[in-house]
Parts: sequence; structure tokens; C-alpha cells
Amino acid sequence: MKNKTVIIGGGMAGLSCGLKLLEADQDFILITDSVGGRIQYSAEAGVNFGAYFVMSSYTHAKQLLKKGAWINPTDSCFHNSPSDKFAFFSWHTIKLLPELVRFLRALIEFSSHYQQFKKRCLTIPLNKSLTADPYIEKLFSMQALAFVRERKFEEAAADYVSKFAYACTGANLEQITALDFLNVSMAMITPIHSIVFDPKAVSKKLESNLILDTITAIQPQGGEYLLIGDGGKTYQADNIVVATPAIVTQTLLGLKEIREASQIHVFHVKADLKPEYQKQSMNLFNYSSVIMLIVKQLDGSFLIYSREKEVDLKQVCRNYELLNSVSWEKAMYVRGSAYLEQEIKNNLFIAGDHNGLGLEPAAISGIFAANKIISKESEKHE
Ligand SMILES: Cc1cc2nc3c(=O)[nH]c(=O)nc-3n(C[C@H](O)[C@H](O)[C@H](O)COP(=O)(O)OP(=O)(O)OC[C@H]3O[C@@H](n4cnc5c(N)ncnc54)[C@H](O)[C@@H]3O)c2cc1C
Repeated sequence: MKNKTVIIGGGMAGLSCGLKLLEADQDFILITDSVGGRIQYSAEAGVNFGAYFVMSSYTHAKQLLKKGAWINPTDSCFHNSPSDKFAFFSWHTIKLLPELVRFLRALIEFSSHYQQFKKRCLTIPLNKSLTADPYIEKLFSMQALAFVRERKFEEAAADYVSKFAYACTGANLEQITALDFLNVSMAMITPIHSIVFDPKAVSKKLESNLILDTITAIQPQGGEYLLIGDGGKTYQADNIVVATPAIVTQTLLGLKEIREASQIHVFHVKADLKPEYQKQSMNLFNYSSVIMLIVKQLDGSFLIYSREKEVDLKQVCRNYELLNSVSWEKAMYVRGSAYLEQEIKNNLFIAGDHNGLGLEPAAISGIFAANKIISKESEKHE
């Protein structure tokens, strides 16, 4: 049987696309091997092993999520080394006040441009949305460190901001773009909450549109597409939205260049932390430490994030019991500024976080694909 549209991938991008098509009463199926993708919330433990927080400004991603606990970024301790640490409000704040004010100004300026950019991205292809605003266009390909230098808050960035960006992305300021850096830094001035995600409720919304399978090949056939599932089942469609992680999309479509991904390994532990990590709910580190972040959970347990799988947790714990761990070899596509077209061929769309970091850009890319399909279909019927 042929469908008008097949979405491949049930993470934030694919699900956002599916819900938009459902709302518009379009014919589609969503084929995925998991619901949620890099959102991996354990209701049992009350813990997120993938995406952790959502900003109040993430209007589109919030459609699929529930807000969990409020996260207070000021309840943080910043570590330069095991013996050199400081709290969010400390003498460091006063010493670096002029630089922090410049950083704050940069965030305020960014915020107004970014809101407009997000709006454009719902209906206009990313490359056109970028060129519509030279300020945003410049940030897309500029290295975060170059931006920090240009705006003269290098010391504040080294002390505070880079640690926050490292905790959120697993990358340093030489590796990520200024756009991703500013986007993630908005969490320092925007209310943020942990994520609660219910895959069963989302699956119920999609009902019979949802199919659990793994797509192994996409073949163009005349004006249509043929998709091959893992067990040999085939699917046909006029429109395809490939909303798989960028590395899978690259293989399925034979794409040349994608951004490189950071690695993040998440360890859920019951622990007696060393005294220097006990006072605040969050501990953030600089890039020389493979441990990126320690976050206290509501039940008193901890999530410890590392950019390496083999890590000695005794660096930060006096004693610990490992409750669970999840490894993301391809956590976030943040390294470099490679750009992927969203409609790479007629009626073949790519959605996901391959052009921009996090849940909101992923949701927007899915909605963009859905909007394009809806308008093409309505043009056909005019
Ligand atoms: C540890 C960690 C922490 C994070 N923290 C945050 C955070 O706090 N805030 C934030 O905004 N972002 C965060 N992110 C990033 C965020 O999770 C991602 O940007 C977002 O979830 C990407 O969504 P996506 O739909 O593009 O991809 P994915 O979530 O990866 O979804 C892809 C989907 O495709 C499916 N799939 C893959 N291959 C196939 C195939 N061959 N056939 C069928 N289906 C397939 C997968 O099962 C999955 O359902 C974090 C990521 C990680 C790993």
C-alpha cells in the first residue's frame, strides 16, 4: 500500500512532523525503531538518560514534553581543578562583572534575532532563513571562541560560560558554532525545567500511523520512493521525511558531509560525593576534565556525565553504586558548521538536529517538512 508521506524516525523531529501532519489530516505513516530517540526518560527512576532540560522559550519542542522540576542554574559550582572551584555568585562574579555584562548584552541581542529566525524556519528553508538576517547567518558559521573574543568576554567565558556549554554539549568553544553556543547559553537567563516524556501517550496520539520497524534502504522509483524495512517489508510513498540521527541519514542517503558528533556517557549513581562536589546541585567542569557535569536528582541520586566511556567515577565520588548507564556515541551534532539541505530532492526531506543543536531546532525542522508537504498537497488540489 502506498502512503502520501512516510516519516522515518520517531525522535523530536519525526514526532513533531507527524503531529503536524495529523493536525492537518494528511495521509502518512511514521516508521521508527524507538519512540523518543535521544529523549530517554525513565518514569521508574524519574531520570533523563538523554535530553535533560527544556527552556521556556522552546515553544515547539514543548508540545511533546511535560515540564519536570525547575532547574536553578545559580545552584552551581564551577571547577577549574579539584582544588580550584567557585560558586555562581562569588568573588569571581564581581571580578568579571564588566565581561559578564557584555555576555548578557550579547544574549539579549541574540534572543530577539533568534526568535524571529525560529519563526522563519517553520516555513522557509534554513539557508533562506539564515540569509534573511546577516547577524544570524554570521553566527551559523562562526566559531564560538571567535565570537567570545570579538565580544570581549574571553575570561568570563573561560571561567563560567564555556563550562556550561561543555556540560550541555560535550564540546568546547573551538568546536561549536557561535549560534549553538548562544542558543545553549540562553539557558543561563531563561527558565529551564527537566523533561518528562511519555512515549506511550505520544504513540497513542499517532495510533495506527505509527509503525515499529528499521528502514535499511530508500530507493527512488519513478516519482515515488520505495523503503525497505529490516525484515524485508516494503513501504511506498510520494513524500519522504528522513528524521533519523544525522549519521543514519548520511548512510541512508549517501550524504557527503555532516557535522561531527560529541560523545556523552551518562552514569546514574547513588553516591557519596567528595566534599568539594557536595554543596551545590550542579557541578560543572572545564574541558580538561572528561567528567562534564554532575547533577543531583530529586531522590538524592546523581547523574554524572562524561565525554569518555571509560571513566573513573572515584575522581568525584568517595563511594558509589552504579544504578544504570547509557552511552551516546553520537550525542549531539555540534562540531563544525556543515550544512544539510532540508529538501535534498523533490519530495525528499531531511529533519533533525543536524543543522542546529537540541530539541527546539529538531522540532522546527520536522514542522518545516510537514508544512512544505501540506502546502504542496493543497496546491495539487487547487
Ligand atoms: C545525553 C544527551 C543530553 C541532551 N540534553 C539536551 C537538553 O538538555 N536539551 C536539548 O534541547 N537537547 C538535548 N540533547 C539533544 C537532543 O536530545 C537532540 O537534539 C534531539 O533529541 C534530536 O532529535 P531528533 O529527532 O533529531 O533525533 P533522535 O532523537 O535521535 O531521533 C531519531 C529517531 O530515528 C530512529 N531511527 C534511527 N535509525 C532508524 C532507522 N534506520 N529506521 C527507523 N528509525 C530509525 C531512532 O530510533 C529515533 O527515534 C541531548 C542529547 C543527549 C544525547
